[in-house]
Amino acid sequence: MPSNLINLAYLLASVLFIVGIKGLSSPRTARRGNLTSSCGMLIAVLATLVDRHIVSFEWIVAGVVVGSLIGVVSALKVSITAMPQLVALFNGFGGAASALVAATVVADPGTLQGVPPAQLYGAGSASLLIGTATFTGSLVAWAKLQEVYGGQPRGAAVMVGNKLSLAASVLLAGYFLYDPAQMWVFWTLAATASLYGLLLTLPIGGADMPVVIALLNSWSGMAAAATGFALSNNVLIISGSLVGASGLFLTRVMCKAMNRSLADVLSGDLGATVATQGNEIYQGRVKRTSPDEAVLIFETARVVAIVPGYGMAVAQAQHAVREFANVLQGRGVEVRYGVHPVAGRMPGHMNVLLAEADVPYDELYDMDQINPTFSETDIALVIGANDVVNPAARDDAASPIAGMPILDVDKARTVIVIKRSLSPGFAGIPNKLFIAPNTLMLFGDGKAMMRELVAAMKQ
Ligand code: NDP
Repeated sequence: MPSNLINLAYLLASVLFIVGIKGLSSPRTARRGNLTSSCGMLIAVLATLVDRHIVSFEWIVAGVVVGSLIGVVSALKVSITAMPQLVALFNGFGGAASALVAATVVADPGTLQGVPPAQLYGAGSASLLIGTATFTGSLVAWAKLQEVYGGQPRGAAVMVGNKLSLAASVLLAGYFLYDPAQMWVFWTLAATASLYGLLLTLPIGGADMPVVIALLNSWSGMAAAATGFALSNNVLIISGSLVGASGLFLTRVMCKAMNRSLADVLSGDLGATVATQGNEIYQGRVKRTSPDEAVLIFETARVVAIVPGYGMAVAQAQHAVREFANVLQGRGVEVRYGVHPVAGRMPGHMNVLLAEADVPYDELYDMDQINPTFSETDIALVIGANDVVNPAARDDAASPIAGMPILDVDKARTVIVIKRSLSPGFAGIPNKLFIAPNTLMLFGDGKAMMRELVAAMKQ
């Protein structure tokens, strides 16, 4: 096919990627955005297959069949609570795929025509460095989110090793560009970059995972863009840059939501230490309530803010929450949903769940919108949220989550917290909200409690 037709197809695919990403910026248009980007990817893949004068398609077809099977089965089977782990794996495999493609062309440059050596070897080593670090870093992130590995080693060996492995990787990449005949330098780079990915993510713990997931997502895009330069493939450069740039924006949003600076993230200085404070702060100070008692308070409320967290995802309580909101609204109560950017276990986790339950978008308030309204809110109903409503972030400078902006639910007239026990959230620290004078604890599974509230309210 003439190269200008291929370039036209790539241009169309790139426009679809950009329009798709724009769609992803709002829950209202996100589904359409996803579909638009997918169409762009289909066009890009088909154009590439046509362009490369492929002689035999057996391996490609086998790869498409096996990959699609794994993708479809895992997407259908994975529970919504395990989605972040799946995203971590996707990031990692994206990085590994980019690094492998780049390594193949660097090891056998005869397959490429017209790519200047400096571009091939420079971009190839950049892809290997970023791609392998993304791969090993994402595996550690997966292990932590899956709770296969719960450690947080922060000894000198890890913290210094992290910086040394990064420095060694950059030096090796530079040396390989200077003397590409030395393939051992290239393969050593794969080892040092893999080590860097491991040592960057191992010390991270507590509530810092969202930043790392967003960062690794961005890196997977950068690795793809670097591979695009190595292959001189425009659509890969554009799509990789889009993922890299939007991932960086997401990292910035997450940094802001976690009160971490991007410089700290990049130097690996992320890990908040897990608190040693125990559950003794609760002794005799927790006020319990029951669904029947709670509805008496709801009956007098005019404004209710619902604040969901990770526990709502675990309980799959979003439909019951929506049903409860419907009952309240039927009685003239104004209902708002307060969504914290890092609530749950992945960016947008709560938005996905609430959209699944068809919660109208204009009832969703982000943190900056809802915080000033809590003082005029009758009831803040916290369902399965913990860290994102922990006043320690605001009031206790020694807390591991100090400085993280939170949803100020404690400023509402009454706070009702639904969770199963006094167990801590992801950051592993106690929460003084549970002993605040205006807080009532409604202990139980999120879905069961919401259903009981609906039933009691209807009576
Ligand atoms: P938390 O992890 O702080 O707390 C969740 C709470 O849900 C727990 O205290 C748990 O208490 C409760 N819970 C669990 N299962 C149920 C259930 N079936 N029914 C009712 N409650 C339940 O969640 P938040 O959303 O407040 O905060 C998110 C945390 O995760 C932050 O620290 C954030 O940094 C971190 N994180 C966020 C990511 C993101 O991208 N959004 C990624 C990775 C981490 P109990 O066991 O007593 O029921």
